[in-house]
Amino acid sequence: MNKVMKTDAEWRVQLNPEEYRVLRQAGTERPFTGEYVDTKTEGVYSCRACGAELFTSDSKFESHCGWPSFYEPSAADHVTLIEDRSLGMARVEVRCAACDSHLGHVFHGEGYPTPTDDRYCINSVSLKLRTSASDK
Ligand SMILES: [Zn+2]
Repeated sequence: MNKVMKTDAEWRVQLNPEEYRVLRQAGTERPFTGEYVDTKTEGVYSCRACGAELFTSDSKFESHCGWPSFYEPSAADHVTLIEDRSLGMARVEVRCAACDSHLGHVFHGEGYPTPTDDRYCINSVSLKLRTSASDK
């Protein structure tokens, strides 16, 4: 993946305040409010900040947790996993490997009937869905 490096000031210009808060300050959108929570449209989910491909609709599943959930990224090296011990919890943060923006967290072994039993719990505002229709 090509690395995308921008200054904080450049990100603030490019992103709206909510996108900036989540992507660049590791914020979390309120559950069940994001635009892709229940989306079943086929397509590719790319990074809202830099456009790198992150997930596809094929791995999206209904987790009922309030955020778009995927059982695997498009490619393992498209995301960076970082241990996160904030808020008194041991979690694994998921970031875009290209621009280092915050996407969400990944949880494992919760019993979801998916091929990996991983749940990439991703903020809608961190993603942009491209469909075959929107590419035309
Ligand atoms: Zn990115």
